[in-house]
Amino acid sequence: MKNRWNDKDAKTTVNRLSRNVQPDIALRLYAAHLIGRESDLVLHGGGNVSVKCDERDAFGDDVPAIRVKASGTNMATLVPSDMPALNLASLARFRKLDALSDADMVSAFRTSQFDGDAPLPSIETMLHAFLPHRYVDHSHADAVLALTNQPDPASLIREALGDRVAVIPYVRPGFELAKAAAKALEAMPNADGLILLQHGLVTFGEDARTSFDRHIEIVTACEELLADRCADRKLTVSFACDESPEALAITAAPILRGLLAENTNDEDRPRQPSILEWRATDGIMAFVNSQEAEKLAPTPALTGDHLLHTKPWPLFVPHPAWRDDDELKRQLESAVTSFRKQYEAYVVRHGRSAECLDTAPRVVLLPGAGAFCWGPSKRLARVTADIHEHTLAAKTAAHLAGSYQGLSEEHLYDMEFRDLQRRKLGGLHSKPLAGQVVMISGGAGAIGVAVADCCAAAGAHVALADLDEPRLRHAVETLEARHGEGIALAIHMDVTNETSVRDGYDTVVCHFGGVDIVVPNAGIAHVSPIEALSLEDFRRVLDVNAVGYLLFMREGIRILKEQGLGGHIIISASKNVFGPGKDFGAYSASKAAGHQLGKVAAIELAPFGVRVNMINADAVFGDEENPSGLWETVGPDRAKSRNLEAKDLPDYYRQRNLLKARVLGRHVGNAVVFFASNATPTTGATLPVDGGVVEAFPR
Ligand code: ZN
Repeated sequence: MKNRWNDKDAKTTVNRLSRNVQPDIALRLYAAHLIGRESDLVLHGGGNVSVKCDERDAFGDDVPAIRVKASGTNMATLVPSDMPALNLASLARFRKLDALSDADMVSAFRTSQFDGDAPLPSIETMLHAFLPHRYVDHSHADAVLALTNQPDPASLIREALGDRVAVIPYVRPGFELAKAAAKALEAMPNADGLILLQHGLVTFGEDARTSFDRHIEIVTACEELLADRCADRKLTVSFACDESPEALAITAAPILRGLLAENTNDEDRPRQPSILEWRATDGIMAFVNSQEAEKLAPTPALTGDHLLHTKPWPLFVPHPAWRDDDELKRQLESAVTSFRKQYEAYVVRHGRSAECLDTAPRVVLLPGAGAFCWGPSKRLARVTADIHEHTLAAKTAAHLAGSYQGLSEEHLYDMEFRDLQRRKLGGLHSKPLAGQVVMISGGAGAIGVAVADCCAAAGAHVALADLDEPRLRHAVETLEARHGEGIALAIHMDVTNETSVRDGYDTVVCHFGGVDIVVPNAGIAHVSPIEALSLEDFRRVLDVNAVGYLLFMREGIRILKEQGLGGHIIISASKNVFGPGKDFGAYSASKAAGHQLGKVAAIELAPFGVRVNMINADAVFGDEENPSGLWETVGPDRAKSRNLEAKDLPDYYRQRNLLKARVLGRHVGNAVVFFASNATPTTGATLPVDGGVVEAFPR
């Protein structure tokens, strides 16, 4: 591993932070950033670091203190407020105790903190406090884990590192580990570091550079031994397939998404789906297609820290029947069912009820198709995927260098269900559309963006399909800035082209795993009296508004049925369906066709739990940021038909409704969220969003 310490960069960090923190702390942050950027050392909030330095108390006295990384924060982006300060003497006193519960340990942290509002420090705070050195660095380095997760790790570690490190058998992270680490160091006071079996590496030093250098040197020595041991050895290829991993993933993802959805106790929302991150890197494909995968994949996770995101083991399905869809479905169903049973038995064995517990695998490995990693959001699914990608590489290295052996089941359970760990996940699935994927055509337009915005605010992930790529890019950036990284996806799509629509849905399936809420919305208009309406213009409008709705619905229905989770089609129709206006024949006829398709779909899809409803909005003009393309095109002609100036149109429409309301995109978005959240058992209905137009009342 390359040592990326650079004195110039270190100095820049010290200067940049000089107003906020002392140089010792700034250097602590600099070294933590270097560790955080090495994905072979730590991933997503893993690992922790500390520095001991004085802190000024309320009396103006300088008191010996320790600053430790806050629990769950990311090392690569650590800022001073992520390093809460604690009174060192008060923590050191705890070493006298024989045992300390997690709850008491948290109280000890809270009563030792200088700032009561600071975040909770790492679970390993006591370890950092009990070690005498000024700087302490802790990681879960892949190379260290590949050597420690072996039947006889001590001899391998000695071979790699001689007597440079003390070796500590697996102890529960937290207070027990802190005591064991302090004792091991007292027995070997000249050690440069501690190897924690099935857990990771701790190094220390009187200055930031020494502790960091030792960390990199030790990891490098482990990497070199592994490279030496693995030289000329490779996994044995045992699976080959003509189809691309992507084509296979498109087949498998919606089936898996349906099988993995959890049952809830909510009759209005009986199943809770997850979001997919699918990966098929060279490393993953070499693993899943290997002869060794069947035995090596279901072995336990590398370290307890990973369990929250990956569960103790993944689901590996050998020999998928890619050529036979029905057989593939049966195989996947039976594999998921036995995983759930095995997982339930594991939690029950350790005294917990499996009721109300999510029992589905987080990672499904399929030969030919790669790794399907699932989470409550795209961001968390990516965390699972990153961790598992490293897990597969480390398990491979461990296997080629010797024989992989993970944590015992008892320790796995302890870390997976420990309150201190689980609180890192925070409240999941609390919003009405959490875990749902919404697909919107005309997604970059005024109504499309507003619908996406409302659905994302309700917890959904959104896929925006549109022809206008610059507007799509802008919409995705805006939505992600508002609602979080990974929640939106841009899809270039021509709704009148079958291949384009099919490809668009395939992209969503690979990206999010499936679709739950389909919103046909892309529309165009043309102003002309019927006697002057050219066939070309009529067909052009019909092609987008009627054929486009058909294709967009049809491909969506295919996926909804594959998943078997019910779902929604919510058609953006128009006030014109019930209340047409003159010179608007092409638009009104095409919108009526889309509306009627919705009613028929409601009848056809009810047996599958799919609800179909229509929204009749009137005159949504958009705003400065998101003007309506449709109104920009037809506004002047529409104004002429009504003997008005184009600028007076919004007010004209406002004045003609009962409530004198301005109809906005977000009102349509609210209606979509209302239907999609199953608030009422409704299908085949039309909801006007028009301020009240008497001639367009549904009847
Ligand atoms: Zn750790």
